[in-house]
Amino acid sequence: MRSNPHPTALPAIYFNGEVLKGTPVNVYNDAGQLVFLVNDTKHAFALRNIKRPESFGNAPIVLDLPNGGTLEFDRESCSSTLQSWKVLSLSWFEKVQYHPTQWLLIGIASIAFAIGLYGQGLPLISKWIAFATPPAKLSELMGNVLIELDDVIFQPSNLDDQAKSTYKQQLNSLIAGRAELSHVRLAFRSSKIGPNAFALPDGTIVLTDELLNFLPAKTIPGVLAHELGHIQLRHMFRRLLQNALAGTAIAIFSGDVSVLISTLGTQLIAQHYSREFEREADLFAIELFVKQGRDLAALELLHEKLGSLDGSGSTDSSYLDSHPGAEERIQLIRENQ
Ligand SMILES: [Zn+2]
Repeated sequence: MRSNPHPTALPAIYFNGEVLKGTPVNVYNDAGQLVFLVNDTKHAFALRNIKRPESFGNAPIVLDLPNGGTLEFDRESCSSTLQSWKVLSLSWFEKVQYHPTQWLLIGIASIAFAIGLYGQGLPLISKWIAFATPPAKLSELMGNVLIELDDVIFQPSNLDDQAKSTYKQQLNSLIAGRAELSHVRLAFRSSKIGPNAFALPDGTIVLTDELLNFLPAKTIPGVLAHELGHIQLRHMFRRLLQNALAGTAIAIFSGDVSVLISTLGTQLIAQHYSREFEREADLFAIELFVKQGRDLAALELLHEKLGSLDGSGSTDSSYLDSHPGAEERIQLIRENQ
């Protein structure tokens, strides 16, 4: 057994980066060089060339060597000597680790940041992304949503072809001359979720038989105009982006990745639009009606009818629940005619 060759030598384990097994060595500082012997071969590295990866808590101190090898030191017995050799300058993270007050401040700042991100930043970021994405790309990204929903909640529609073509004509006259809405299509379905209409991000408006049978024919253009508003303003894509971004933020802050695992269809039926989006879609419909010289009384009748559905309690109108109350919506029409 060789005696310790240098008074300030530190015991360490040397890993050469090729074999897993380490070799115990004594490391000393010789005029700015880190020196140790491995099987009588001398290794020497300038201290300034040695970079240390981040390490936490009581884990050993690991120095990365320029030859691809590493040296592992016991933290408790070696850190003060390594600091005096200027190999160890405490990282920002480690300095903070020993100061609970700073941790508390960082915690508060993180929560404030997360709330700010969720409340202000996420809707903005989502809006930018949504409007920067071409409609064709949206269809490509979101084209499978209806297929997913068909598996979960929809059955084929029982409407006859004549009724379907009437609604398609109504849609066409609403979007006439609006290139940005020319990709919009109708899809008819029967559904367990009752009277329902919504716009998918790819520009498909889904109408359920239950809704079409319940509403007077002259109110259907109002339904379509409202859904066109959601499409024009890219509400669903923005909401999906917000959820995805919020999920990412939550996953980062909580370390729980499971929040990211969720399907589009589930989000679609589990969550409502914000009041703000509904109001925007209502305003879009009113403006479209005014521009095309349509009778706003049909819009008022639509909201009265939907309002009565809300109150009846006999149907599972989860989609309708998310809309503002009938009086509020009718008020909006009267303010804007
Ligand atoms: Zn809506």
